[in-house]
Amino acid sequence: MRFSFKEDNYSQNRGKYSRIILIYCRKCKQNVGYYQKDGGTKSYMGQLRRLYADRFLKSMPKNIFKDKELRCSKCKEILGTRITYEKEKRIAFRLYVGAVKDKIVEIRKNK
Ligand SMILES: [Zn+2]
Repeated sequence: MRFSFKEDNYSQNRGKYSRIILIYCRKCKQNVGYYQKDGGTKSYMGQLRRLYADRFLKSMPKNIFKDKELRCSKCKEILGTRITYEKEKRIAFRLYVGAVKDKIVEIRKNK
């Protein structure tokens, strides 16, 4: 699968590296979606504490900009709850600890 990274102020502000990661449900292994994680260093991605709705790439969860909770489409486990990240006024989901796992698909150095 091919991805194109989103380049904007959000990725610029977070540092040198961005990654595409596949996020999946820890409980049933169902894919949640492909997601661009900005920031971190080359060897360390940083903790995944919240997911910004605008950072999902392919196979984005349905109604992500409207739902109050992020749920696994298969086992219906609640993975996170919706927040507005006030600093940037972005819709995001605060993840429950250990609710999801991720796998790095691609890493890129930001310009
Ligand atoms: Zn699940």
